[in-house]
Amino acid sequence: MDIHTLRKALDTPRKIVIIPHLKPDGDAMGSSLGLYHFLIQLNHLVTVITPTDYPAFLKWMPGKKTVEIYPFKKPKCERLIRDAEFIFCLDFNDISRIEPLDKIVGDATGTKIMIDHHTNPVPFEDIQYCDVTASSTCELIFRLLFDEWKEEKYMNQDIAACLYTGIMTDTGSFRFNSTTPDVHRIASRLMETGIAAHTIHEKVYDNFSENRLKLLGYCLLNCLRVVPEKQAAYFVIPKWVTEEYSMEAGDTEGIVNYALSIKGIRFATLMLEDEDRVKLSFRGKEGYVVNVFARNFQGGGHIYASGGKSFLSLAETEQKFLTLLHQTE
Ligand code: 5GP
Ligand code: MN
Repeated sequence: MDIHTLRKALDTPRKIVIIPHLKPDGDAMGSSLGLYHFLIQLNHLVTVITPTDYPAFLKWMPGKKTVEIYPFKKPKCERLIRDAEFIFCLDFNDISRIEPLDKIVGDATGTKIMIDHHTNPVPFEDIQYCDVTASSTCELIFRLLFDEWKEEKYMNQDIAACLYTGIMTDTGSFRFNSTTPDVHRIASRLMETGIAAHTIHEKVYDNFSENRLKLLGYCLLNCLRVVPEKQAAYFVIPKWVTEEYSMEAGDTEGIVNYALSIKGIRFATLMLEDEDRVKLSFRGKEGYVVNVFARNFQGGGHIYASGGKSFLSLAETEQKFLTLLHQTE
């Protein structure tokens, strides 16, 4: 099946689930809900299922009532996935990125459609609509619905607000080098629906809890280390710190970027001690490719934004990181 046959299949009402990656970000939620607002206009039965909870600063998005968070509604979500005729897999290209739903989705019989912009796919899908040069999965949803399928008559403010959110967050508010003229064309078309783009920015970025800001302050002061000779800087955040500041989903998002804002730094890392693992985030710029480095930590991602994990202790993870860092050119 290709995307045009898929469109024909969607002429008949279907049972559909949409699944973003775990710990969904603005692009994962924006693309899922943007697609949701299109599909419900075609009279499909659609549910967005997230593998884990998602940040409070995204919970204003239109359609949030349709979102089922798997850990809170396991039997219902499992039934919906089992019964689904179509399973849209958004903003990931490796089924391990939807843990703990990986096995359930892997075993499901519905047609799986992967829409994504990450490198190094580990194929599991039946249909794919992927482009690693795209700024975001939201950009790809726009291109699929409005450029390929020409569904202009279904454009509305709900779709626009969701897609705008993901494009804005994945481009760092239109400043990363993924911000092409086409990104601005799409943003412009979305704004023409009458959505207040500046309000979306405020809802996402001026929505910190007091604890989140204090957590950031603590990390900047106490958890940041700089390795000038490697043009690198990194955060090491022990679990007790995030507990002390009652961390919620999404609270550490963006902290890694502060390391990259230091003059002369081209490689930034964040090591966050979690329940059973250390979660790593990598960011690069000016030719410092990070997704290859991320493979040392069972990870991957984009050239300049990647992630990974380590099952060593936090101190051992830092040591491993430093050893690898000193081996780089
Ligand atoms: P973040 O640092 O925000 O968690 O992730 C940055 C980017 O790296 C995201 O685009 C995400 O898809 C990718 N990424 C994060 N963690 C992993 C991982 O464990 N494996 C892979 N393959 N990619 C990851
Ligand atoms: Mn994305």
